Amino acid sequence: MSAEKGIAIAIDGPAASGKSSVARRVAQELGFVFVNSGAMYRAFAWQVLQAGKDANDEVSVLELLHSTQFECGEKDGVGTVFVNGVDPGEQLTSDQVNATVSAIATYPEVRERLVAAQRAYREHCNVVMEGRDIGSVVFSDTPYKYYIDASPEVREQRRKAQGIVDSIADRDRQDSTRKASPLVAAEGAVVVDSSDLSLEEVVAVVLRGIRKHLA
Ligand code: C5P
Repeated sequence: MSAEKGIAIAIDGPAASGKSSVARRVAQELGFVFVNSGAMYRAFAWQVLQAGKDANDEVSVLELLHSTQFECGEKDGVGTVFVNGVDPGEQLTSDQVNATVSAIATYPEVRERLVAAQRAYREHCNVVMEGRDIGSVVFSDTPYKYYIDASPEVREQRRKAQGIVDSIADRDRQDSTRKASPLVAAEGAVVVDSSDLSLEEVVAVVLRGIRKHLA
């Protein structure tokens, strides 16, 4: 473990923009740890559902937050998240979690707790982190910021092709209009529209920018 801070690459974008696949590949190419910050919000949404809480009842959700332990680590170069010692696994992308996660992500106290866990990664390693507020809030000081976008039609298409039921228009609306850390392209972020690009092409654009900086 080094006392120096690592390098953080921030990759943000709306649901199904392809940012996860891009971030994963960029991390592999650079030998950095890949962290999906959305998985942390999803893990807590899963916990809220397990506890039978109403995601729209802030008081009750925050009560649960106070008694919840998150362990965010890394295995084989990929971020991991355990909630009260349990890995929710495939439940993270269940229809119920898809429908609940953006509500719990609006609560500032939930965000504060998870942002602290996200920032902790850079204390231990170089990281490529994807999410909604990584360039604007979590690592606002990093010079490596990317915003991956795609048209709503292309994004709907991508989710359908994955066989996933996901109301991405609803999540986008909630994520972009919430008061706490809304989805935005961070100041200085390189915006890449992936609608007509292959994964390889987007990865190449991002890597070119990073390597120019790192050199
Ligand atoms: O990235 P993913 O689609 O898995 O994220 C699930 C949800 O978690 C988002 O729709 C958003 O509500 C929330 N999220 C967030 N901030 C992040 C990452 C995800 O609010 N940095």
